[in-house]
Amino acid sequence: MKRRVHSQEVKEAVLKKLAERGVKLEDIAQIVYEMQVPYNPELQMETCLDSVRKVLEKREVQHALLVGIELDQLAERKMLSEPLQTLVETDESLFGCDETLALGSVLGYGSIAVTTFGHLDKHKIGVIRKLDTKLGKGVHTFLDDLVAGLAASAASRIAHRHRDEEENGIHEEHAS
Ligand code: MG
Repeated sequence: MKRRVHSQEVKEAVLKKLAERGVKLEDIAQIVYEMQVPYNPELQMETCLDSVRKVLEKREVQHALLVGIELDQLAERKMLSEPLQTLVETDESLFGCDETLALGSVLGYGSIAVTTFGHLDKHKIGVIRKLDTKLGKGVHTFLDDLVAGLAASAASRIAHRHRDEEENGIHEEHAS
């Protein structure tokens, strides 16, 4: 029988890769906080961290992270074939597949996720800025966008939940 990858295995691999690449969930939560606190002054960091963890439960998000980080690492080891090796290694500004992969991963979280992603892509807040491949500390051509996507999704998730809570006056647990 064909081996089927268990979801727990994928989740663990993603968390391990993020840690290996120097990205802490707290760093992503910090971006989420900055994006949402203007709309929700009582927002807690713990809520942001919890939202990041929830987004990381999504299979399409996990898969996008695995693909992107793998390509970054292969480029670091000069294992891609040309011209892709150079495109990824130099973070060629017109390459675009890094943004496309990350954008795809936010689509499940609606238009707020998409616009927040665009904002983060442009302004590169917090850990996203530190992941710039052009700083010369490794290849993070895909990871910077994927982290922006994660933060954008977690921020959008909070925006929707916050509105629900305001409307219902109670804390309701959502499926996502
Ligand atoms: Mg990039």
